[in-house]
Amino acid sequence: MLSCKDMTKLISDSLEAKISVRRRMELWLHIMMCRMCRRFRSNILELRRRVRDLKALLDQADTVSIPMPSATKARLEEVINRQLG
Ligand SMILES: [Zn+2]
Repeated sequence: MLSCKDMTKLISDSLEAKISVRRRMELWLHIMMCRMCRRFRSNILELRRRVRDLKALLDQADTVSIPMPSATKARLEEVINRQLG
């Protein structure tokens, strides 16, 4: 049985599709039984969704003419890259 600490890494890895089927099964087994890890996983998914939305918005700002100071844009991109990294 994996610990919740192991799970946090496994959950992150699973989003990158870097884990084996066996690992994936262990992950789901734990998630079914552990409310904290379930919540952690849904928080991560939500965070990633928001970052993606924000990134799409930034890409749009390039093509549509929404004026954004380049310093602001650079800072936003930095935040996004950190989240995705
Ligand atoms: Zn757990």
